[in-house]
Amino acid sequence: MESLYGIKMCYDIVIIGAGPAGLTAGIFARSKMMKTLILEAGRVGGQLMSLYPEKGIHNYPGFESVQARKLSDRLYAQAESLGCEIRENEKVVEINDGDEELIVVTPKGSHRARSVLVAIGMGDFRPKKMGCPGEDRLSGRGVSYILPVKEELVGKKVVMFGGGNSAIEMALISDSVTDTAIVHRRPEFRADESNVDSLRKSNVRALMNASVVSFNGGDAVESVTLEQDGKTFDVPADLAVINIGIDANMDDLKKWGLELTPGGLVKVDVNMGTNRNGVFACGDAVDYPGKYKQIITACGEAATATQSAYKFVKKPYWA
Ligand SMILES: Cc1cc2nc3c(=O)[nH]c(=O)nc-3n(C[C@H](O)[C@H](O)[C@H](O)COP(=O)(O)OP(=O)(O)OC[C@H]3O[C@@H](n4cnc5c(N)ncnc54)[C@H](O)[C@@H]3O)c2cc1C
Repeated sequence: MESLYGIKMCYDIVIIGAGPAGLTAGIFARSKMMKTLILEAGRVGGQLMSLYPEKGIHNYPGFESVQARKLSDRLYAQAESLGCEIRENEKVVEINDGDEELIVVTPKGSHRARSVLVAIGMGDFRPKKMGCPGEDRLSGRGVSYILPVKEELVGKKVVMFGGGNSAIEMALISDSVTDTAIVHRRPEFRADESNVDSLRKSNVRALMNASVVSFNGGDAVESVTLEQDGKTFDVPADLAVINIGIDANMDDLKKWGLELTPGGLVKVDVNMGTNRNGVFACGDAVDYPGKYKQIITACGEAATATQSAYKFVKKPYWA
């Protein structure tokens, strides 16, 4: 029988977001034979593909080191081979209550769901900007917020901005093929000791207590002007990579009727349940005391959330 919305098929679970959390949820849902749809606003892979595809991940168990792009490809392949239906470029705009189920609405159509899993990470996020002259004009012409593939770095002078783990790791990748400097506004890095140690042993030139004054060039970046110890000077650069954090945009969550934490993330219980019946959440989109935003935790939460959704949908005798 057709529902009010004219859609016949009903998924056991519709997963919103195809980052590590959403893809892992898909893997667990299919192992329970749940009919699974994953809707992704952009391309599959989440932050791994959109922010740091070239970076190595050294803290995902089972891999001493794995390139972010490769881990994403593996998660994608596993979810797809298990039978998840995955749709890219389909951004969820509403989660409505249907007759007996939930209706997930996108600009391309509506999907009936017995349960919904919100795994939208940082939502419609944007990399933080330095906010100095030349940045916007030269963006895409030498000013970048992600590290290009190694082949594109060869022969270029790279200046990395940032003091965290990912800035250091990207500087080390760049250093393996080309002349690289890292600029940080503080006297110490805010990163794991192992990364700082690797940086010290590398050829990366570290400019501490330094801030950027401007990005300079005509059609493309030619140099960056820095200020350090009250002195201003130019550093030649073909590529300036800015890695100073991300601005999350979680406006969608407010429209979906989900109870949020004071920090604007989804409030979840121990089962990764939300205030809405049949709606679960996991990954960077959620917050709770002790939350640690990492791939492994996003995947762990996805396993719990999927188990909860399974119990909600299938109501097994043992649950
Ligand atoms: C530079 C950097 C380096 C990092 N390095 C590491 C590391 O080495 N190790 C580690 O463990 N962690 C690392 N992290 C953290 C890790 O990337 C995150 O914790 C992880 O990606 C969270 O996964 P997620 O699936 O919750 O969210 P995300 O990866 O953000 O994926 C969410 C997905 O949801 C989609 N989406 C958003 N809104 C909608 C919508 N309305 N409809 C449909 N889809 C939507 C997004 O497009 C995105 O693809 C790093 C983070 C950054 C920024």
